[in-house]
Amino acid sequence: MKILVINCGSSSLKYQLIDSDTEAVLAKGLCERIGIDGMFTYQKAGCDKKVSQIDQPDHKKSVSLVLEALTDPENGVVKDLSEIGAVGHRVVHGGEAFEESAIITDEMMKAVEACNDLAPLHNPANIIGINACKELMPNVPQVAVFDTAFHQTMPKEAFIYGIPYEYYTKYKIRKYGFHGTSHAYVSQRTAEILGLDYKKAKIIVCHLGNGASICAVDGGKSVETSMGLTPLMGLIMGTRSGEIDPGVMEYLAKKENLDLEGVMNILNKRSGVLGLSGLSSDFRDIDSAIEDGNEQAKVAKDAFVHRVVNYIGAYIAVMNGVDAIAFTAGVGENDPDMRKDVMEHFAYIGAKVDEELNKCRGVERVISTDDSAVKVLVVPTNEELMIARDTERLVLK
Ligand code: AMP
Repeated sequence: MKILVINCGSSSLKYQLIDSDTEAVLAKGLCERIGIDGMFTYQKAGCDKKVSQIDQPDHKKSVSLVLEALTDPENGVVKDLSEIGAVGHRVVHGGEAFEESAIITDEMMKAVEACNDLAPLHNPANIIGINACKELMPNVPQVAVFDTAFHQTMPKEAFIYGIPYEYYTKYKIRKYGFHGTSHAYVSQRTAEILGLDYKKAKIIVCHLGNGASICAVDGGKSVETSMGLTPLMGLIMGTRSGEIDPGVMEYLAKKENLDLEGVMNILNKRSGVLGLSGLSSDFRDIDSAIEDGNEQAKVAKDAFVHRVVNYIGAYIAVMNGVDAIAFTAGVGENDPDMRKDVMEHFAYIGAKVDEELNKCRGVERVISTDDSAVKVLVVPTNEELMIARDTERLVLK
């Protein structure tokens, strides 16, 4: 079956057409600056990327551009739209309503809309993408795959916050966790690569990108993760602070004469590696600044590593052991020094990274030595493939 995977943001839309029989990507691309002017990128497998400026006043126009490109007689990959068997959509927040992916119906969309408050920047954009596809492909089944769903297996003691319980029952304030599709894919792949029984393995996935989170996967289930009610919690990220003492918010508001929105803006957009280094949110810039002797850049990287070490250590304790630690996403896949710096802290449990094997970027590889008690891996994430697999599974059910 050919499955169109859509990841829709407020002004962007990423897409891939995947053949679920071979799991090959037939074409992929990106619509950007939707509602502003419009850039359209299309790449057929094995061909060069084509980028063009095409006005896209709304997401419906973007989806129609995608469909035109996919069926284009010269550069397309399908003859007719009827060849597309299903559409899989990434949806960021499914709250407690969705423990797994779901076929899109009018009824279930009400439950998705009810989660908008929990992810005001993401969910409304995801819904716009779903509606645009429904309008243009009314007879094609559509599936929603939630970032939060994989973490719905967390036990209550892990997801509950230490605040009055009524705020959980009244407002569903709790830890949800994100990047679930990535954590599920990477943990499954890790078990496959190592020949472990997924239902018995203890795996820690470090998804370290511009947004970053760690997940403890015990027996194929997420039992702990570092993001919270929102994706602001946990690790130090590109521009997000991650975990801080909540008291900082009041103190900072008073000192800088800010309202809550002002504080949140600092924590979401001006903190993390960007805020600490004063330079950039991109680790490539941080690494070159460190080489030039920039002290603040070094503080940013050291603090990032320290926080990752903290969470891995905690999650080993939560699972009472660990079989494998996998690194993924932009930084995790591409930064050997960071992986080495993190893993040095786990020599005490017998984890040994092989320096030569670790010299890799963006490839799937075991990077620990043969005698390492804990296996360490690089596993490039593939959220789109995971969305396509779930979509096919539900559509064929
Ligand atoms: P992601 O959000 O997964 O796309 O990750 C994006 C981040 O990965 C960028 O902001 C960079 O900080 C980081 N990254 C990408 N390539 C490299 C690299 N070669 N070395 C270090 N960091 C990298």
